[in-house]
Amino acid sequence: MKKLFDGVYLLEGQVGRRPLYLPLFRGDYGALLLDTGCAEHVDKLILPGFTELDISPADLRFVINTHPDTDHVGGNGGVKTWAPHALLGCGDADREAIDDPEVLFRSRYDAYRPFGVFYSEEIAANMRRDLGKAQPVDLTFRGGERIRLSADWDLEVLYLPGHSKGHLGLLDRRHRTLFGGDAIQGSVYLDVSGKPALCPTYLYPETYLQTCQLIEHLDLDYYVSCHWPIKKAREIPEFCQETRAFVERAGILLRDSGITDLRKACLELGPRLGQWPDPVHLELAYALAGHLGLQ
Ligand SMILES: [Zn+2]
Repeated sequence: MKKLFDGVYLLEGQVGRRPLYLPLFRGDYGALLLDTGCAEHVDKLILPGFTELDISPADLRFVINTHPDTDHVGGNGGVKTWAPHALLGCGDADREAIDDPEVLFRSRYDAYRPFGVFYSEEIAANMRRDLGKAQPVDLTFRGGERIRLSADWDLEVLYLPGHSKGHLGLLDRRHRTLFGGDAIQGSVYLDVSGKPALCPTYLYPETYLQTCQLIEHLDLDYYVSCHWPIKKAREIPEFCQETRAFVERAGILLRDSGITDLRKACLELGPRLGQWPDPVHLELAYALAGHLGLQ
């Protein structure tokens, strides 16, 4: 675990070969956990972190999901079992998927089956395992809400759509830091050894670019995400620029190729968009479906 500031910690784990960072806030009024990892991270990462900080079930007041993906919501059921009175929140537009792992799987991971892009049975089974058991959401946010953690400290909920329809971030003005989840993704997700592991997985290019612009214009000292190293000062607009450049390049390559078949677009443009392993090219379905207007 890394201490970022007084009362702000980062639980540091791994999802497969990629890093996973879960922010944990502790104020006078209780604690807030941002994202819950995959189902396995409850026992492997989250509960050991709570023990280290001496956080009891009664201390945990809020659990907020940035967006509906295995590595962000899979521990919801496990954390709520441990702390039944903690309120589970997410973006309003993501609630149905987070309420029910089967809805999430169908609407997000299996959405491109009609276009010939879908996961093998083995990978799908692993994703269902990582999603954990169903855990209904207690409250939803649309951005602009403030969550008070101490008399003189609150977090502002920001609406950062693009990777999902309701993606959220938390703005900590006291520490001039945005905790942005996977809201912007640069040009690649790297693994723990620094090798390309996954392509960007935004779904809605236009809103994703707006989110990128919003983040770039916040007056921040730090940008803390769930899979990328912490960005400081000038690195923040650089990361925004890298994010924007990828979206623009993907759009231009797709347009110039004239390809309208999603599977073909992934396989042909994948090698030109990044150095990730070959099977990852099909993960471009999320982004390229957006560019093709299939979402
Ligand atoms: Zn993620």
